[in-house]
Amino acid sequence: MKKIFIFCVAVLLLSGCQATNVPNSGTEDTSSVVNDGWINANNSSNSQNSSSVGDGLQNSTSNYIDQNNSSVPSVDNLGEDKTELDLSGFQRNMNINSLLRLPTACKTEKGYYLQNEGLLYFFDNELGRMIVVCGKPECSHNDVDCNAWINSKLLSYYDGKLYYVNGDAIHNSYKTLCSMNLDGTDHTDVQVIQISEPSWSVNCADPVFVNSTIYFMERDHSVYRVSLGQKVENAVKLIDGEPEDMHQTSEWKFWADGENAYAMNRYMDNNGDEHDSLYWLGENSANTRKIWSSSQIVSSTSDNASWYIMDGKLYYYASGNELWNIDLNSGNSEKISLSGNTNGGTAAFTDENIIILSANGREIMTFDFGGAKKANIDLSSIYQTYSDIVGSDLIFADGDSVFLLAYHKTFMSPSSALYQIDWVNGRFREVDTWPGAAVNFEPEDHEYWIQVG
Ligand SMILES: [Zn+2]
Repeated sequence: MKKIFIFCVAVLLLSGCQATNVPNSGTEDTSSVVNDGWINANNSSNSQNSSSVGDGLQNSTSNYIDQNNSSVPSVDNLGEDKTELDLSGFQRNMNINSLLRLPTACKTEKGYYLQNEGLLYFFDNELGRMIVVCGKPECSHNDVDCNAWINSKLLSYYDGKLYYVNGDAIHNSYKTLCSMNLDGTDHTDVQVIQISEPSWSVNCADPVFVNSTIYFMERDHSVYRVSLGQKVENAVKLIDGEPEDMHQTSEWKFWADGENAYAMNRYMDNNGDEHDSLYWLGENSANTRKIWSSSQIVSSTSDNASWYIMDGKLYYYASGNELWNIDLNSGNSEKISLSGNTNGGTAAFTDENIIILSANGREIMTFDFGGAKKANIDLSSIYQTYSDIVGSDLIFADGDSVFLLAYHKTFMSPSSALYQIDWVNGRFREVDTWPGAAVNFEPEDHEYWIQVG
C-alpha cells in the first residue's frame, strides 16, 4: 500500500513562517561569482570544492547577502530568448510531480520560479541563486502578507503574469486562481475554481492552466474545465467523480499538449496492481474519453513510472529499462530499449531527452527518445559531501540542466539540498541559497507530518 501523506494547511503556514534566513542576492559583484560552485561530476577529486557550500547541517547565514530586493525581476526588464519558452500557460517539462518541498515551478524569459514552503523564489540561472520574490521593505518573508506567499499547487506564466492557486484559509477558503507580477507585486484574485464546500481533502489532481482554460478537480475527483475570467458556475464537468473508497488509491494528473488537454489516472485494482489510464479532455463529458491504458503494455505499473506527452505521442517510462513511445492517434506502441542500469530509477523529461536517476540515487543517465545514451553523471561526491542524505528526487529538466532535490536525514525532509546538474558538461552545483539548505531538522520533529494509510 502506497504511503500517502497529508500536509496540513496550518502546518504549512507554520513551516512557511520558519523560513528564516531567506536568501537574497544583490546584483553587485556579479562577475566574480558567475559559475561559482560547479563541480565536475565524474572526477571526485574535485568534490572538496563543495565542502563549504550550503552545509545543511549548519545554520549559517554566511552564504546570504543582506536583504536587498533590487534583483527581483522587473516586469519592465523582460528580454530576449523567447524561442523555446512555452507561453500557453502550461510548460510540460515544468509540470513537476508536486513534491512537498518544491511543489511548483515555471519558466519565464528571465529564469525559473520555484516554490518552497509556500514562498515563491526566483532562480537566477547565471548566478545559481534563489531570490525571494518580494520587494517589500522591512518584510521578513515569513507570513501571508509577504509578496512571495503563494502556497499553491499551480504556477503558470501567461501573458506576462504569474498565475497561482491559493487555497489557504486566511486568504479565501475556496481555491482561487490569482495573478501577480513577476516582481511579486499586484496580487489579484482572478476567479474561484472550486465548486463544493471547502473541506479536508487529499489526493486531488493539481489544477493546470493552459490556453486560457483552467482544468481542476473537485474533492470527489470529478474533473471540470472553466475559461479564464469565468465564474465557477460556468465550469463544465468533464469526468464524473469516483466513489469515496477509491479516493486514497486513485491519483490524477493533468497535462496539455498543444490544443489537447489530458488527465492521467493512476489507480489500484482489487489485486493491488496499479495502472495508468489516459483521458482526452473534450469540451464536455460527452466527448471526453479514455484513450489509453498502461495495461496494454505492462500488467502492473510501478510507483516510479512516469510519462510525458508531446506532439501526440505518449512517452511512458515503466521504470525497468522500458521506455515506450505510444502514438495517441493510431494507438501503436513502440518499445525503446535503454542501455545501462536504469532499473527502478525515476525519470524527468524534456522535449528532447529522458533523464533517469538510478534507484540508488548515485547516477544520472540521459537518453534521447531513440534510446541512445547521451550522458552519464556520477553523483557520488554529493554523498561524500553530505553523509546524511537518504534520498533524492528529480524535480524538472530543462535544456542541458536537470534539478535534483536531496533530503537530509529523512525522505521529504524540510532540510534539503538542491542541485543543478549540467549533464552536457558533466558538472553540477549545489544551489546554496535554496532555503531548505538553511533548515535544521531532526526527524523526531514529527509536527511537520501527519501520515495516513
Ligand atoms: Zn516578503
